[in-house]
Amino acid sequence: MGWSWTLGTVAGTAVRIHITFLLFLAWIFGANYVSGGPQQAWSGLLFIVLLFLCVLLHEFGHIFTARAFGVSTPDVILLPIGGVARLERIPEKPSEEFLIAIAGPLVNIAIAGLLMLFGAQLGVDSLATIENAGAGLLPRLAEVNLFLAVFNLIPAFPMDGGRVLRALLASRFGYVRATELAASIGQWVAFALGFLGLFGNPLLIFIAIFVYLAASSEAHLVAIRAISQGVPVTTAMMTQFATLTPDEHVDAAVETLLRTNQGEFPVIDGLGRPVGVLARNDLIRAIKERGADARVGDVMTNDIPTVSNRRCLDEAFKLLQEKSVPAIGVVDAAGRLIGLVTSETIGEMLMLHQAMPAGTRWGPWSRPAGA
Ligand SMILES: [Zn+2]
Repeated sequence: MGWSWTLGTVAGTAVRIHITFLLFLAWIFGANYVSGGPQQAWSGLLFIVLLFLCVLLHEFGHIFTARAFGVSTPDVILLPIGGVARLERIPEKPSEEFLIAIAGPLVNIAIAGLLMLFGAQLGVDSLATIENAGAGLLPRLAEVNLFLAVFNLIPAFPMDGGRVLRALLASRFGYVRATELAASIGQWVAFALGFLGLFGNPLLIFIAIFVYLAASSEAHLVAIRAISQGVPVTTAMMTQFATLTPDEHVDAAVETLLRTNQGEFPVIDGLGRPVGVLARNDLIRAIKERGADARVGDVMTNDIPTVSNRRCLDEAFKLLQEKSVPAIGVVDAAGRLIGLVTSETIGEMLMLHQAMPAGTRWGPWSRPAGA
């Protein structure tokens, strides 16, 4: 993620902090300063820093459990909405995902327990120092840790509770079906939260919208990833498409553009090998800026990621996401362009897949004939 700095490395995991988090701290300080002066500003800041220390410990609960199962964890990033620990992969066994997911909230419960024990011991003293601004700090921290545990256990993606639910379902229904079930349960939970929010806390409405959107995108991603493993890339490519050559003028390209409803035009050399890609918008911009005489080769994007037609679809899907390009070229053994994979072609294959009867579905568990 851009605009973030590494604070340090803990046991091989980089702890990063995003610029919006620093702005958030500045805002907390400023808002407290305005309403209560420097003393309140510092104690407000102290509270938030301690709170995020608890959030970080929560993330390290996930990280150390993941490590125990051999999943590497390159970094954790702090955002104003909380921490996000990046896991290199989701473990195959549902029981392992369950333990990784629940470890975070358990850390918060442990912290709350310790603070209450500690706070109870301080109970007599704190009566004497009630004037002290820091006196309520420990009970307040214990309280928010309990809140964090409960909030994260909401059974909806991307909360830990969503992953706990999926892991529980996955042992019975398989990973893809479990994700679908967990996602739709999550959306019902989001509806319920939003409904409650209407009558009380408006914050619940925001949480509900966030949870609702996140739940549907997670389910979509998992479905595509699972289905695209073990499926040849050729099943999700389009083979009918217009191409351009580098020496063509852009006004000729416009005619091609008008003839088709294609969004991106691969540019190929004399031997049929892809050398670049020209998107609809780039073409229109090129005409405005350089006139109709400009060559396609001078205005195209030179980098078109390709995969061999012998590879699996998940490789093309990964490239689409990592490079954030509109299309992936599929090439044959001689390097000639024979197809294009876009997010639409994958989406269409996915719809087809879902329309098919269960026994004939493609996926890691059953392969199309000849694949
Ligand atoms: Zn968590």
